Amino acid sequence: MTGTIDPALQHVYDAVLRRNPGESEFHQAVEEVLASLGPVVRRHPHYLAERVIERICEPERQIIFRVPWTDDAGQVQINRGFRVQYSSVLGPYKGGMRFHPSVLLGTVKFLGFEQIFKNALTGMPIGGGKGGADFDPKGRSDGEVMRFCQSLMTELFRHLGEYTDVPAGDIGVGAREIGYLFGQYKKMTNRYEAGVLTGKGLAWGGSRARTEATGYGTVYFADQMAQHAGQRLDGTRVVVSGSGNVAIYAMEKVAELGGLVVACSDSSGYVVDEAGIDLELVKEVKEERRERIRAYADRRPGARFVSQGTIWDVPAEVALPCATQNELDEAAAGTLVTNGVEIVAEGANMPCTPGAVRVFQEAGVLFGPGKAANAGGVATSALEMQQNASRDSWSFEHTDARLGEIMRNIHERVVTTAEDYGRPGDYVFGANASGFTQVADAMLALGVI
Ligand code: NDP
Repeated sequence: MTGTIDPALQHVYDAVLRRNPGESEFHQAVEEVLASLGPVVRRHPHYLAERVIERICEPERQIIFRVPWTDDAGQVQINRGFRVQYSSVLGPYKGGMRFHPSVLLGTVKFLGFEQIFKNALTGMPIGGGKGGADFDPKGRSDGEVMRFCQSLMTELFRHLGEYTDVPAGDIGVGAREIGYLFGQYKKMTNRYEAGVLTGKGLAWGGSRARTEATGYGTVYFADQMAQHAGQRLDGTRVVVSGSGNVAIYAMEKVAELGGLVVACSDSSGYVVDEAGIDLELVKEVKEERRERIRAYADRRPGARFVSQGTIWDVPAEVALPCATQNELDEAAAGTLVTNGVEIVAEGANMPCTPGAVRVFQEAGVLFGPGKAANAGGVATSALEMQQNASRDSWSFEHTDARLGEIMRNIHERVVTTAEDYGRPGDYVFGANASGFTQVADAMLALGVI
């Protein structure tokens, strides 16, 4: 079971705390990985001797910049943009951009740190990076979003490139934003460099199945977890938090595999629909009209909207947190366990607090951490880069089949690593140990960098 930091590694964590004050999400992400690495450094002491872990904890480059733009009323607005280029030992920096008012440097660093190991687990040649801005797209017109994206890219373009750094979407950044960002990159560089951004539209270099990939991949992973334990998703009752890109396609795949999704949410509350969530209605409410999730219950007979408490109060056998970090705490995990949850797979990044993970593991719930379970999104981004490099466009079936194969491989790799270290069923340990080892070995091979 995942535990506390080994005394041999405590000095690494102390240095992270000292050198990155106030960045609690980043501390949490580092602590979670370090807590897995005790057995790894006992088996491979040279990782400690060569200070590889300390090197990985320090981003290769951190870029912070002003993003000025003019709103529809003619007022100047100022946001802060970030790109943390964390590790390029396995390939160009790769990871999404998040537009949300809560974004701080520490948020981007936590996401970038997770991304290094996630990308390694995919087996694709991609390094780790992440970016974003404290910009809130909610309530902004298309013109405002475009001007913001153009201003952001006017600074960021000089740090990007298909062999350097390849951003994609994340919270608040979907196909519309990627379009505006790509348009400005093209204009600034006078190059049609399709492989510089992923999550593009199908008409201009995007990959089929990229939109669906993170959600589908999470469910493929949960399905592997179930099968490995001799269970099935078919016929299970499922709760999915969020109603954005990851949540929508997780719900779609659950339904395809015969599960019943009974609840989903947004930041204003959650809806319960015992007849099964109507996905077309969710898409209409959240993607087309950009409304609050309450509008779902207003239009769907039998559904109810709940603004108090948490979606994790709804009983389910499978829980897929697909909204944001730390959305599922120890108390919520306790409720899920009491209500009989059997499988939890993280579609979002770090949605479960360390206390929640402990509760699940102690109760024998199968727990799939985000860096393994939601890696299908970035893996399909790497497939998009492959198609761009070969000026090719694959069918949905081919791309989805590759995604399924990648998720099976990640599952196999995580399970095998956990078993190799005598910790069968510990997906947190397996993901951290396997991802870390690959990155550390590559770093050592490339010299002191
Ligand atoms: P979207 O912006 O499409 O959707 C985010 C969803 O989460 C919305 O329903 C949003 O509600 C909800 N949400 C956001 N913040 C909060 C909050 N503080 N409390 C409750 N709900 C909240 O983002 P994605 O679906 O792309 O991303 C969701 C998660 O998945 C993130 O953790 C992201 O890092 C992770 N992820 C995404 C990948 C991708 O390919 N897109 C890849 C791998 C991981 P509202 O509409 O009210 O804001």
